[in-house]
Amino acid sequence: MIRWDGFADYHGQHNERPKPGHLVLNWHEPSNRTQRVRVVAHTCECRDVVYELCHVAGQGFVRRTDRMEGTVRETAWTSTTVALDTFHRILLGQAR
Ligand SMILES: [Zn+2]
Repeated sequence: MIRWDGFADYHGQHNERPKPGHLVLNWHEPSNRTQRVRVVAHTCECRDVVYELCHVAGQGFVRRTDRMEGTVRETAWTSTTVALDTFHRILLGQAR
């Protein structure tokens, strides 16, 4: 489940480490579609890699920002339901 540490007031959700046999997601270069992206959930900013659940134009995807590598990648755009499931799996260490 989602864990909170001693600084819960300052931290968001932390994603678990990937578990053995986790789903390997395909990460793509960000698309240059022009619609406004709404971030509906994100993992804690204290980590080098932040995952965001994004909604845009009735679709959803997960965006991964790696601040160590300086890269931004996103999953394929899909239904908001599937994107939410993917985001939860990342939180639980079931997908990466
Ligand atoms: Zn944190």
